[in-house]
Amino acid sequence: MVGSFGHICESIENLSQDYLQPDQKKNSLLNPRAPIYASGISLMLADHDLVNHKLYNCPNHWCVTDVPNLLCPNCKGKMKCGTTYVSPSAENTVEGGFVKGLITYIVMDNLEFMPVSANNFITLLNKLNVKDVSALEETVVDFGVEEGLKLLKLSLECKTVLTSFYLGNVP
Ligand SMILES: [Zn+2]
Repeated sequence: MVGSFGHICESIENLSQDYLQPDQKKNSLLNPRAPIYASGISLMLADHDLVNHKLYNCPNHWCVTDVPNLLCPNCKGKMKCGTTYVSPSAENTVEGGFVKGLITYIVMDNLEFMPVSANNFITLLNKLNVKDVSALEETVVDFGVEEGLKLLKLSLECKTVLTSFYLGNVP
C-alpha cells in the first residue's frame, strides 16, 4: 500500500476496546458509513450545512425524511411534522472522540500508533536499534486542524509522514 494510511487502520485494529469510549466501536472507524442524509446523494461536498436542516416525520411512526410531505411507508400518511437536525458540536457532545482521555500514545513516523507502556517503549527501542537513550531528543510540535489536514495528505503519499512534515520542507 502506498502511504501510511494502512498503518493507522492496522493500529486501530490492534488497539484494545478498553481504550475506546464506552459508546464507540472500532468498526465505525474502520468501516465508516455515510450519514443518513448523504445516502443517494452525490459525494461532492454540499454547499449548505446541516445546522438548520429540517427533517419531517410521520406523527404515528418512527420514520423520518428530509423531503416534506412524502408518504409514510407504514400508514401512507404525510410525513410533515418538522424536526430540526442537531449537528454534533463541542457544546452538545458529552465526551467527544473515539478514545478515552488521559492515555498517552506513541505515534510512529508511518503513523502506526500504540498506547505508551514500558513494554511498547522497550520493544521500540530495540526495533529502532537505540542503544543510548540519552541520544534521543525531545521536540514539542504544534498540532491543530491545519497540521492535521497536511498530515492526512502526507499519510496518503509517504511512509515517513512525521519526518516529512516536521523536519522536511513540506509547505
Ligand atoms: Zn405513519
